[in-house]
Amino acid sequence: MKLGTCLYNHQTYVCIAEGEYVLIPALDAAFDQPQWRDMLTLLDSGTDLQAPLQAASAVMRVPLKEITLLAPIPRPRKNVMCLGLNYLEHAQETASQVGRTGKAPQYPIVFTKCPTSVTGHNVDIPFDPDTCSQLDWEAELGVVLGKGGKKISRENALAHVFGYTVINDLSARDIQLNHKQYFLGKSLDGGCPMGPWLVTADEIPDPQALDIACRVNGIGKQASNTRHMIFDIASIIEWLSRGMTLEAGDVIATGTPSGVGFVREPPEYLQPGDVVECEVAGVGLLRNRIAQP
Ligand code: MG
Repeated sequence: MKLGTCLYNHQTYVCIAEGEYVLIPALDAAFDQPQWRDMLTLLDSGTDLQAPLQAASAVMRVPLKEITLLAPIPRPRKNVMCLGLNYLEHAQETASQVGRTGKAPQYPIVFTKCPTSVTGHNVDIPFDPDTCSQLDWEAELGVVLGKGGKKISRENALAHVFGYTVINDLSARDIQLNHKQYFLGKSLDGGCPMGPWLVTADEIPDPQALDIACRVNGIGKQASNTRHMIFDIASIIEWLSRGMTLEAGDVIATGTPSGVGFVREPPEYLQPGDVVECEVAGVGLLRNRIAQP
């Protein structure tokens, strides 16, 4: 099932993708409950997702073109947790630039993006040349937890995953390098496009076998497969939860493959008018345009 968060008639709803339509359960009085108006409430509630499908009524069905899709979780409760250098070829391509050896990290490198950076599919990314002139792309598989916990074992970890989405971990390289720390350069407004959908885990039998790609203006920049992650999703959850309680609704960006812009010869950065597409097979295609300043 592909779940989304949408605006329809100036109200926010949870919706379910259905071809050229979406089902908006809350439009039917039988499903007009808080969990069908807010994705985080839905994740907390453990609601039966099949119920509105089984009782689908005409009033729920709205043409896709009549809604505005937002990020599946428009405002996460916490920072988005991100893996750095989690694909070996990316660790190698950036080694000289970031003063590392290019070897696979022994422990996961984790940083975060603040919740206000989250934006949706097809939403223009603000571009402020006074703040950042080196905006770079990073296509990533996003993981959304449905069940929290602490000291989650690798063996049980995937049972805590609610679903998957696509994330573009947009990165202001000048800010990231000038300030010696990832957070500011990773947290620009609009710097975390996410979506279009949150695909439930039952539709993705093996999240470590998904093609992942990034294109800018239709030109391929990144092409890999999630099997090349250094720390797989189960290991990431195990590591993150060792000393920190994870919760339903937590979002994890699992790292980007090689092909980012700042290590190219010459370096390439996103410019106003550019269209950047991040795609994970079976999960979705996330498209954003860089706005004019
Ligand atoms: Mg990244």
